[in-house]
Amino acid sequence: VKVDVQLAAELIRNSGSMIAFTGAGVSVESGIPPFRGPEGLWSRYDPQCLDLDFFHSHPKESWTAIKSIFYDFFGKAKFNEAHRVLADFEAKGLLKALVTQNIDNLHQMAGSKNVLEFHGNSQKLICPHCKKIYLPEEVDLNVLPPRCVADKQILKPDFVFFGEGIPEAAYRRSLLAAQNADVVLIIGTTGEVMPAAMIPAEAKQAGAVIIEINTESSNYTNRITDIFLEGKASEILLELEGLI
Ligand code: NAD
Repeated sequence: VKVDVQLAAELIRNSGSMIAFTGAGVSVESGIPPFRGPEGLWSRYDPQCLDLDFFHSHPKESWTAIKSIFYDFFGKAKFNEAHRVLADFEAKGLLKALVTQNIDNLHQMAGSKNVLEFHGNSQKLICPHCKKIYLPEEVDLNVLPPRCVADKQILKPDFVFFGEGIPEAAYRRSLLAAQNADVVLIIGTTGEVMPAAMIPAEAKQAGAVIIEINTESSNYTNRITDIFLEGKASEILLELEGLI
């Protein structure tokens, strides 16, 4: 493993257009579990609360679950060392873009600037009618569902629900960053959620070297990964930081 970490550090140091592609695993050490699996959020909540049709037909029921997952719980999480190292890589000019499937806002809180939010961001709410954006603290979540002050429409958390498309600008910019990347750091994702899962494959096809960090193997590991670094995101990223 040590040799692999050294090789990865050298690739990162010499890269000119590295991007990162992150999933739920990067936030596990912040106390946010993935959706799936025995400890996953779906063992405690019904995923239909994030289905667009159900949300429209049962706004109060959906909002009760949404409030407890994304505002009482995600909203209180703190970024961890993995988020922090990625923000530092960007500040040092080593990381050009960070494509994330996460919606917890922790990369942004850690200081990452060029975050391409593939699935949106739970720490913003949007009025589907006038498109006004609200921060959670600007909204009274004691009365559900919350409504836009201007036009009284029901607010929606600004992330991608089941049955909803990917935000167009984030999609386009992620593809472009992938096609221009020389190194991709894939961190903490199974690679099972489409179309997000295609982003590292696009980069690989365009010639990028793929470095993957995960506690277990993923869909990528035996297909496109060049260097697999097995372990927790924070531990491996701290090791890499120490070598760069
Ligand atoms: P996933 O749940 O499918 O997979 C999580 C991955 O992280 C697994 O491969 C697992 O082995 C790995 N992992 C677990 N702990 C780790 C650690 N400490 N360090 C490194 N890797 C670790 O996650 P996904 O692929 O991101 O897909 C789920 C979808 O649900 C995502 O698209 C995302 O939008 C959403 N989601 C987001 C959050 C969040 O915002 N934090 C949380 C859960 C789910």
